[in-house]
Amino acid sequence: MPGTGSRPRPAKTVLISGASVAGPALAHWLHRYGFAVTVVERAPELRTGGYKVDIRGAAIEVAERMGILEDIQRASTDMQTGAYVNDDGKRIATLPADIFGARIGRDDEIMRGDLARILYDRTRDDVEYLFGDSIASLTPIAATGAPTGAATDEGAEGIDVTFERGAPRRFDIVVGADGVHSTVRRLAFGPEERFSRHLGTYLAVFSMPNELGLDREELYYALPNKLLCEYSSAGDPAAKGMMSFRSPRPAHDHRDTDRQLALLEAAFEGDGGRTPRLLRAAREASDLYFDGMQLIEMDRWSSGRVVLLGDAAHCASPASGQGTGMALVGAYVLAGELAAAGGDPAVAFDRYEREMRGYVEVNHRLAEKFVTEMNLATRRGIRLRHLMLRILPHMPWKNLVAKKVAEDVQRGANAITLKDYGAVRPASAAGRPRRRGAAPAAAAALPPYAA
Ligand SMILES: Cc1cc2nc3c(=O)[nH]c(=O)nc-3n(C[C@H](O)[C@H](O)[C@H](O)COP(=O)(O)OP(=O)(O)OC[C@H]3O[C@@H](n4cnc5c(N)ncnc54)[C@H](O)[C@@H]3O)c2cc1C
Repeated sequence: MPGTGSRPRPAKTVLISGASVAGPALAHWLHRYGFAVTVVERAPELRTGGYKVDIRGAAIEVAERMGILEDIQRASTDMQTGAYVNDDGKRIATLPADIFGARIGRDDEIMRGDLARILYDRTRDDVEYLFGDSIASLTPIAATGAPTGAATDEGAEGIDVTFERGAPRRFDIVVGADGVHSTVRRLAFGPEERFSRHLGTYLAVFSMPNELGLDREELYYALPNKLLCEYSSAGDPAAKGMMSFRSPRPAHDHRDTDRQLALLEAAFEGDGGRTPRLLRAAREASDLYFDGMQLIEMDRWSSGRVVLLGDAAHCASPASGQGTGMALVGAYVLAGELAAAGGDPAVAFDRYEREMRGYVEVNHRLAEKFVTEMNLATRRGIRLRHLMLRILPHMPWKNLVAKKVAEDVQRGANAITLKDYGAVRPASAAGRPRRRGAAPAAAAALPPYAA
């Protein structure tokens, strides 16, 4: 504490902005450690859209400690195979099974919306959720109750929060788990452009009818600098469409769907195969996800009593395949460090950053590598890739290729060693969360404040 030398008042109340993956996962752990948690989500209800996401390595361990691993496995996409198709939709190169599922150790895949639902269902009885609202301002408050003057003053004893709709409230800590375009980051650290590095590729994902009768199969159609994909996952009668294209950063508002569709249509204008059908499906979809692939790079993820988590802090882009895993792991580490530090934000945020930095770095580098491999620039390159895939199963070095792919993927997923924060058992044997007020058994091992 500047000027006083005393310890700050420990945090008890936490406001989390964002109810996707990072936010509800953090809420789960914080509730378990005895904090009172509120989550504010801009969308009027839980957002269910999105592509399939991987849970690997350390994230599997976290899911297990949360007691949700079985739920995730039950909702697995169970994808079986993938193939490249030509203009006529004919399969011309199938991915060998051991490369398609390039895995060493355990690996699960789930639809992002299903994971968000699992996390929300786990926490909804214990945590206050405010849908359809957003933080409008953050004012740090000194022990005297007066504003400290700076946006996220290190000496603050709490934060006064105003909302776009709801009445103002005061919290001990505010967490930005509100994604790559984080509002909390903008309010506490500055404009997005300062921290965002565009990787030169855009991605659209949307639900569409399963017109091709796909069964847990993924079909790719590659064009120079572009890739389309259509797939169906287990238990979903619909299919998903994916369109990606290389482009320098155009001016686009991430909330302006009409402008996003216009960019998509301009990028794929005149292309053959299933392109016109996918463009129409994107326009008709109610769950279109469209964004540039970008890295969020920051020197610090915390300032005073405000801290960032998940994509808001360190988005690694969909190219990394690790955004969701890092969100789950980051939630575990942040909550664990807060509990271990007895609610002292300065100590906890420092340790949280130290634990997470190396893991995030590795995955940022992998994203840069994977994004260049995603969309090949020339027809010649695409033909070569198809040829390689066709001959690969017959090559003696086939296993080496599969091993290399798996090693790359697993390197990022395992680039952190999880601490044991002393509360690693599932919330209850029955798998149901406790209601507010019921002291979690595991919390008895925590510092007095947290229990
Ligand atoms: C609808 C949706 C679809 C997605 N689809 C894909 C996909 O297909 N492929 C992929 O790789 N990644 C996708 N992502 C991103 C992926 O979920 C994240 O990379 C990863 O899971 C990390 O999660 P996160 O919780 O940190 O951030 P996110 O999952 O981005 O969640 C951020 C949450 O904060 C909310 N939010 C934003 N601004 C505010 C605000 N001002 N106030 C309150 N709440 C706010 C958002 O609505 C969202 O629920 C998608 C995200 C969303 C929200």
